[in-house]
Amino acid sequence: MSAPRDRPVSVLGLGAMGRALAGALLAAGHPTTVWNRSPGPAVALAEAGADVAGSAAEATAAGELVVVCLLDDDVTRRVLEQAAPGLAGRTVVNLTNGTPEQARRLARWLVAQGARPVDGGIMAVPSMIGEPGAFVLYSGAQDAFLDWRDVLASFGDAHWLGTDPGQAAVHDLALLAAMYGMFGGFLHATAMIRAAGGPAGGFAPMATGWLTAMLGELPALAAAVDSGEHDADGSSLRMQAASFGNLLTASRDMGVDGGLMRPIRDLLDEAVARGHGDDGLSALVGLLRGGLVRPA
Ligand code: NDP
Repeated sequence: MSAPRDRPVSVLGLGAMGRALAGALLAAGHPTTVWNRSPGPAVALAEAGADVAGSAAEATAAGELVVVCLLDDDVTRRVLEQAAPGLAGRTVVNLTNGTPEQARRLARWLVAQGARPVDGGIMAVPSMIGEPGAFVLYSGAQDAFLDWRDVLASFGDAHWLGTDPGQAAVHDLALLAAMYGMFGGFLHATAMIRAAGGPAGGFAPMATGWLTAMLGELPALAAAVDSGEHDADGSSLRMQAASFGNLLTASRDMGVDGGLMRPIRDLLDEAVARGHGDDGLSALVGLLRGGLVRPA
């Protein structure tokens, strides 16, 4: 069963992301009530057809589906506590970024209030909401997710990750780790190019081509992590540790801080020191998990 278009929904939190979510619900024709701590952000949404609630409790009372998008877990908990008497029977989809344990704790509390909890992780920036390429991860109460899946699809592709409420946060934060690794590497690279007198703009297409080619390595890397067969495929950790040293030496010579890169050099060096010089990059996952010790 999925929710028909005329079932009322509410959005708690109208920051940059909450405004985008409420806007997408309105654009899809859902009767939408909004609430925000400060009144300003609701004005444009009211002009677009939203009802504006005077309190979080009022907003929760108005919506069968309550979408929450606030600064952090602490704020979310305090706002939902204000609305607690009206939570029974509601589906609460929390799209506030948080940890898996925070998601599980909130889910237990929501169940105790008689609500159906779904936790979510938004893999998009506000301007992408409702556009191709945006996707949102969900986990928690499966019946509630299935009930409201078509409405949630207003935000972007809806990915279900199971009944453990923490799974959406696990995958959200893991994807952020991958993203920050890429951006961190690109920022360091750009600092090197600028220090050498080149324009970052001219370097970007070259970096894009290189990173796109390297993205093709991810499935094989993942398969090696799962199997524990860390085939170097011509690029051993010993070789990589040696060239990584050059990266840091050159950065220092150019006055570029190596702080973003040093932890990777340390990992490579430690893996080699522990006897994994002939292995491939996938062996580093064991080290990150604290278990990379080659059996004697
Ligand atoms: P903003 O900083 O723009 O908005 C924060 C929201 O939290 C506002 O509605 C703000 O209300 C509210 N808030 C803050 N403190 C309190 C409080 N003490 N009591 C009540 N309300 C409070 O953040 P975003 O909208 O960008 O992000 C919201 C969530 O979405 C975050 O968890 C973020 O990680 C996640 N997200 C954001 C993305 C982005 O690119 N923006 C991408 C993916 C996820 P007020 O307006 O009154 O200050």
